[in-house]
Amino acid sequence: MDIKEIVQSVFDRTKGIEDKGKLASYIPELKNVDPDSFGVHISTTNHLNFGVGNYHDKFSIQSIVKVLSLAMAYSLLGEDLWHRVKVEPSGTAFNSLVQLEVENGIPRNPFINAGALVVTDVLLSNLNNPQQDFLDFLKNLSKSNSIAYSNKITASEKKVGYRNAALCNFLKSFHNIDNDPTDVLDFYYKMCSIEMSCEELSQLFLFLANGGCTLHKNSRIITRSQTKRINALMQTCGFYDESGDFAFRVGLPGKSGVGGGIVAVHPKEYAIAVWSPPLNQKGNSYKGMRFLEEFTTRTELSIF
Ligand code: GLU
Repeated sequence: MDIKEIVQSVFDRTKGIEDKGKLASYIPELKNVDPDSFGVHISTTNHLNFGVGNYHDKFSIQSIVKVLSLAMAYSLLGEDLWHRVKVEPSGTAFNSLVQLEVENGIPRNPFINAGALVVTDVLLSNLNNPQQDFLDFLKNLSKSNSIAYSNKITASEKKVGYRNAALCNFLKSFHNIDNDPTDVLDFYYKMCSIEMSCEELSQLFLFLANGGCTLHKNSRIITRSQTKRINALMQTCGFYDESGDFAFRVGLPGKSGVGGGIVAVHPKEYAIAVWSPPLNQKGNSYKGMRFLEEFTTRTELSIF
């Protein structure tokens, strides 16, 4: 089996299918993207790197960043983090408010917006220069030096962030936000605005396939146990109310974002990033899901 040939052939087939997805429109700036962009990049623990299509182009990683903010907060706070956010699938949309009231302001998991806002609050409380420290954390994980926030996307999301503002204030009313909600939201939008390419993403996420250590520098980021747990959370909660379907069809821990990116990890083997902006009804990349489903079926490289 040649992985490169399979990536290329599944890419070609997926490129040809009718895209039933739609661009995210609730963040105005996300509409300014070519809907036909399509890129894939795989990085393996035995040093294979291979990309097809628009794998060099940078895009807004949006909620994919929630895995990275979680990794940083977990490394700072350890198991105490789980007093503030749970580890159960939500079965609800990414920006849902409904469970918070009955569950006393403790979000179901760190990958829905409510949970990610709590994680953002933890980072704000524990970092001296949150924006710079977070970027340095990513740069240490990555081989690339060009990871940056997008001021345009941050401003665009802030302008229409009524939902997230409601969530953050609601969490504050339950005393599960320590900082000023405005500061939490500003930092959250900043993190979501980060732009990266499929190549950068798959290389950066390799630490989750490599027991918590970067492959290129062999530097430990989180413990093996923390790595296992973050992968478990991606498996059970990485795709909002489509997490079960992603496990069923693709069979890998992963995380999507409304910019149309998906990253998936096969522990000990590889990380793969796919980008195609139009989203299905659950907010996950339509072609990205199709690509990964066929890729893991053809290679038999899923965890199941
Ligand atoms: N910044 C987006 C939001 O909060 C992230 C959502 C996503 O990528 O799923 O609405």
